[in-house]
This record gives sequence, C-alpha cells and structure tokens, in this order.
Amino acid sequence: RERIGKLEWLIPEVDEMLGGGVETQSITEVYGEFGAGKSQITHQLSVNVQLPPEQGGLGGSVIFIDSEDTFRPERIEEMLFGLEDDVLQAAMDQREIEGSIDDEEARDELLQSFLDKIHVAKAFNSNHQILLAEKAQEIASEYEDSEFPVRLLCVDSLTAHFRAEYVGRGELANRQQKLNKHLHDLDRVGNLYNAAVVVTNQVQSNPDAFFGDPTKPIGGNILGHKSTFRMYLRKSKGNKRIVKLVDAPNLPDGEAVMRVTGEGLKP
Ligand code: ADP
Repeated sequence: RERIGKLEWLIPEVDEMLGGGVETQSITEVYGEFGAGKSQITHQLSVNVQLPPEQGGLGGSVIFIDSEDTFRPERIEEMLFGLEDDVLQAAMDQREIEGSIDDEEARDELLQSFLDKIHVAKAFNSNHQILLAEKAQEIASEYEDSEFPVRLLCVDSLTAHFRAEYVGRGELANRQQKLNKHLHDLDRVGNLYNAAVVVTNQVQSNPDAFFGDPTKPIGGNILGHKSTFRMYLRKSKGNKRIVKLVDAPNLPDGEAVMRVTGEGLKP
C-alpha cells in the first residue's frame, strides 16, 4: 500500500484544517447549495494535483466525470495562470517546456499540457456514470507507470442523475443501492491507484435550521460512511466562501474562509 498523498487547495487555512490537504485513498464529499463553488473546487484541484509535490500537488493527472456539463477548459486556463509565477515556472520545468512564463508559446504549451492531463468524461445518466467509474479503473491502470499517474478522480455532480432518476419514496432504497455500488467503485480506484476521490453533492440548506444545524442537508447524509471526509461549502459576503470540515477521521471539525476569484480559489 502506497503512502497517503495530500493534495493542497493552496489555501493555507483550508489545507491546515485538512491536515495538509485532500487525502488520496479516501473519498472527499463537497456539499453545498447551487452556486456555492463546488465546481470551482473540482477545477482548482484538477490544476493543483498536476503540480510537483514541492508546490502542493501530486504530480498526477485527473479523471473528471462530469454529469452536469460543468467542466470548462477556460476555467482551467484562468486558474492555471492565476498561480504564482514561481509555481508556474516549476510546472514548466517539470514538463520540460522551454522558455519563460511570459513567453506566449510556452504558456500555450503549458496550458495544453495541463488540459491533456484532465481526462473528462460526460455522464449522460446514472447508469452511464456508474459505467464511467468502472472505466476509470482501466484508465488509472493504463497511466499507472506513466509520468503523470492518475492522482485525482472527480465526480461533479455525484448525485444529480441519481436524484433526477430515482424519485419518490418507493425508489429511495433502489437509489441508495446504486449509489453505494458507485461509491464502492470510486473508492476502489482511489485505493488501488493512490488517488484522491472528490465528489460534489448539491443540497438545499435546511429551512428549519432555526432549531437545528443548518449545515445538515435535507434528506440527511445520503453518502453515509462511504465519504470519509465531508466538507460543507457555504456562500458568505461577496466572493467569500465558508468551508466547513464536518466529518473527518482523526481530524477535528473546523471552518476556514476562502474567496472564489477569476484566477481561482484564493485565501
Ligand atoms: P456549484 O458547483 O456549487 O453550483 P460553482 O462552482 O459553479 O457552484 O460556482 C459558481 C460561482 O463561482 C459563481 O456564483 C461565481 O461566484 C463563481 N465563479 C465562477 N466562475 C467565476 C469566474 N470566472 N470569476 C469569478 N467568479 C467565478
């Protein structure tokens, strides 16, 4: 069993809360309302994971299962060039790209290289999504001994198709069973290939929060014990977001603040 890797958000407050970053060989669930920034996180981590370990990454590539058509290459570009110059330079050196980061040709090459390492697959329905998770294992195996082994598996959104297709109380058990199988497959990829698994889950905050915990989504914890790290994302003033660690093994619960900017997630 390989050593657990830590993938940094490159936001000190968040990374500290996570004990160094998102862990490989675990599932991390990011949940929150529409527009909270869940997709921004999957995009930012798809950039960060490719960086050398000294820069907070895992020198790896990404499998990105996209169920709501949220993946945007332009966003990857903005986030990539939103990194500090020394980080960009390190990424260029790592890829043996000649030239300086101010050089347009070098920048194009760098961007292309980052995009090439994000394997995006669109899931058209829940069964297709389950299939893609099985396929992810083949891809991870294919890249295992390459320069950039798969170190991140994103599913954005994990739950949308399942929620849309399995409606009504009579379908709940069925839905849960399918989701469990799906999570099991994702977990397997993470464990076998030392990858971080990050899934998003859109929830509505609890309107009865006056008496309860507003961070507990309606419908309860549908992912159960399978997601080992649970993070709740909440909008605050302007571009500020509150990131709350709700459930994690061996880590205290905590809260951190970040901003969603044009150049990506920032402290
Ligand atoms: P979720 O996936 O949780 O529904 P998103 O990750 O799509 O939410 O986040 C959407 C929010 O991210 C927008 O409301 C906006 O505040 C911010 N955002 C997205 N793209 C940009 C950008 N290019 N520049 C600045 N902020 C952005």
